[in-house]
Amino acid sequence: MKRIALIGSTGSIGRQVLSVVRRHSDKFQIVSLSAGSNKELFEQQVAEFRPKVATIVSPDCERIDGVNYSFGENAFTDAIINEADVVVIALVGFKGIIAVLDVINKGKDIALANKESLVVGGSLVMKLAKEKGVKIVPIDSEHSAIWQSLDFDFNKPFKKLILTASGGAFRDYSEAQLKTATAKDALKHPNWDMGSKITIDCATLVNKGFEVIEARWLYNTSFDKIDVIIHRESIIHSMVEFIDGATIAQMSYPTMELPIQLALTYPERLDCALEGVDFAKLKSLTFSAPDYNRFPCLKLVVDAGKQGGLYPAVVNGANEEAVKLFLEGKIGFNGIYEGISCALEKFTGGVASDYESLSQADKFARSAVKERFGV
Ligand code: MG
Repeated sequence: MKRIALIGSTGSIGRQVLSVVRRHSDKFQIVSLSAGSNKELFEQQVAEFRPKVATIVSPDCERIDGVNYSFGENAFTDAIINEADVVVIALVGFKGIIAVLDVINKGKDIALANKESLVVGGSLVMKLAKEKGVKIVPIDSEHSAIWQSLDFDFNKPFKKLILTASGGAFRDYSEAQLKTATAKDALKHPNWDMGSKITIDCATLVNKGFEVIEARWLYNTSFDKIDVIIHRESIIHSMVEFIDGATIAQMSYPTMELPIQLALTYPERLDCALEGVDFAKLKSLTFSAPDYNRFPCLKLVVDAGKQGGLYPAVVNGANEEAVKLFLEGKIGFNGIYEGISCALEKFTGGVASDYESLSQADKFARSAVKERFGV
């Protein structure tokens, strides 16, 4: 029985983690559940899974006998309990890094869905994980595909990692159409059903830039060994090219439940209620190079990753703020690129030495974006 602490239980990934646990209730036990503010869903989840500990940032929720509750700002920290074998971190955004650092300091293994923590603090996170002997395994589908292609061996030598990208909701939009594109348009992702923040990140290709940085840290490699290719069908979830010219790909219909389940059972594979790919029906798989003119954020993000230091934290903070403004209808789609560029131009650099330095870079970037748009 694997005992799981789930941080971020009410979001898209958190709900799918619970679906995996439900399917294999003989293999998994939820010992701790933690959420932000979706009280109604959290109450239902606690009633169903009866964790030892239930923590929610706000507001106070109904209590069930036999469950230890905690409320408020320390909710995510309080959810990391001794009884857990693994902590699933399914939070969205910068706040995930606090949980990640906490979990590592407590010596617990991590199944990671929060890519922002590696984007902003990859060097800190990986260094600390090594010191504490903590394993971090990916839930992000591309990184899971790479991990599967490497036989779950993070140290296996490779020549190149090839990350696939669906291209997002605006992949067929012209430059003129992108100028007037709205949040409602962006939230219609062609292949994946995800939370709103990541769906916008897919539309700008910021997400793919983040995933390049994430891959750089998880697989301890350099940026010149990571490629991005547009693959509209989202059947190949990423590939690894080896020294002998062989390329191994992982394919399946798009679902997050497969990478979530594998992060909890590897190297064992269990039923995932997923049909294998019907290739005759599919007929073809297509590939093309990313269009950096229509989607300039991809290069912007990867370049910040190459610059290192606090630049990735600035990109992330600026992106979170700009995406929020876009979702609120306060800026246009291209405003996301403008906001990130503006924050980067103003930033004078710095070393990602600790959480405090990351937090300051994050705040700096958010203010720069708000100032740029006068909000
Ligand atoms: Mg992904």
